[in-house]
Amino acid sequence: MHAIQHLIAGEWVGESTVERYNPARATDLVAATPAGGPATVADAIGAAEQAQPAWAALPGPTRGAVLLDAAALLSQRQADIAQDLTREEGKTLAEARAEVQRAADILRFYGGEGWRMPGQTFPSAVTDTFVYTRREPVGVVAAITPWNFPIAIPAWKIAPALIAGNAVVAKPAEVTPVSSWHLARALLDAGLPAGVLNLVFGRGSVIGDALVGDDRVAAVSFTGSVAVGRAIHDRVSARRGRVQLEMGGKNPLIVLDDADPAVAARIAAAGGYGLTGQACTATSRVICTPGIRAAFEHELLAQAARFRPADGLTPGALMGPLVSADSLATTRHYLDQAAAQGATVATGAEQPEGLFQAPAVVTGVKPDHRIATEEVFGPVVAVLDADDLDSAIDIANRVPFGLAAGIVTNDLRSAHRFANRVQAGVVKVNRPTTGLDLNVPFGGVKDSSTNTFREQGTVATEFYTWSKTVYMGTD
Ligand code: NAD
Repeated sequence: MHAIQHLIAGEWVGESTVERYNPARATDLVAATPAGGPATVADAIGAAEQAQPAWAALPGPTRGAVLLDAAALLSQRQADIAQDLTREEGKTLAEARAEVQRAADILRFYGGEGWRMPGQTFPSAVTDTFVYTRREPVGVVAAITPWNFPIAIPAWKIAPALIAGNAVVAKPAEVTPVSSWHLARALLDAGLPAGVLNLVFGRGSVIGDALVGDDRVAAVSFTGSVAVGRAIHDRVSARRGRVQLEMGGKNPLIVLDDADPAVAARIAAAGGYGLTGQACTATSRVICTPGIRAAFEHELLAQAARFRPADGLTPGALMGPLVSADSLATTRHYLDQAAAQGATVATGAEQPEGLFQAPAVVTGVKPDHRIATEEVFGPVVAVLDADDLDSAIDIANRVPFGLAAGIVTNDLRSAHRFANRVQAGVVKVNRPTTGLDLNVPFGGVKDSSTNTFREQGTVATEFYTWSKTVYMGTD
């Protein structure tokens, strides 16, 4: 059991009283954290404000060296951190190892950015004048993160913020404190100065407002649910702060007649059941054209049978439990709703012990069914019909979300038409909707995102910096 504390001004503080148990084993106590309050947050912001100027004054490569050393430490500690990640979140050990690797790679990528972070030069209309831009850090940044990628998402906010010269107050999700604690320890052990990264634990409803409402926090980067994101957006915008939101999805996969049904089912299952369906980019709707639907459903049922839920620590496990009793109840509720609205729960209706949910295939779903429009966040794939590619794209776009979207086809023209017309920030052709490269822009449209600044890749640093234009007379 890890007794975890807040990290404020380089000190570990607070009494660890809030317990987190393993969702796969009810008696396995994973960690205890303090229940922070507004005063904790105020202290953390004060520490960040004090530490930020000296950090920003360091040369970029010096800041980068800290991130690179922290990346090496995460890689060395990968097996232990992955074990903790599985125990606190539930995903399989293979998924957890990949996520820790991802966090290390993100630190490496932004560590390298310390050598780059280019500005621009421009010709001036005035003689003997040199015009250039430089990127300035915004100052203190808040990073508010969900539980489903408990080390990768904090890493992809904290690393670009730090390399740009900001100080950070990070607020991890209540149920997954251990992974971000490991991340913070790696950065501290790599030499990050005190106060540059602060970590506060507590309920969003208790400490959230103190964090996002504080004028000393220049920018808030949030990943989580639409309801919380909207409230944060209003709060931060009202005080003219900078805010970036990445939120839910209802991600479609279109399967066209020309596809191989077995290949399409493998892609749908990887996107729908991998990570127990608890990914913002998870495939939750499959829209089939008429000639392939029956064969696709047959193959998807076979795939669903493979993804038997198990303790993520079990060797070879393909799918772990849901993260909480609430998540399980929500998933069951959506399956009941689907049946009540006339769809068929072809598999997944059974209820295993504990927080496990069998992969579900729901057939005969109509575009207006709740299971076709609302985010479930569990291993549930709804199968819908469409007459042709264009009506499939219309159905794909007929939801308030626009995060990821995929198509399975061998027809180049259909693939291009889909990529051009679908309303989503991430488009995949013949690949699962889940799975992202870390060096390319990521984000959604519509209710999935603020759709302003993108995360990941070199563009991520734009959110954490502002552009200054300098006119330099040279005569
Ligand atoms: P959540 O919105 O409940 O919580 C997210 C974070 O916000 C947590 O740290 C929580 O403590 C905090 N929070 C809660 N209330 C707050 C408040 N009033 N003020 C400030 N912070 C507050 O979401 P969750 O259940 O942790 O995560 C699941 C959701 O996240 C899903 O909707 C999923 O689609 C989304 N998600 C999106 C992406 C993406 O990149 N688009 C990635 C992963 C998850």
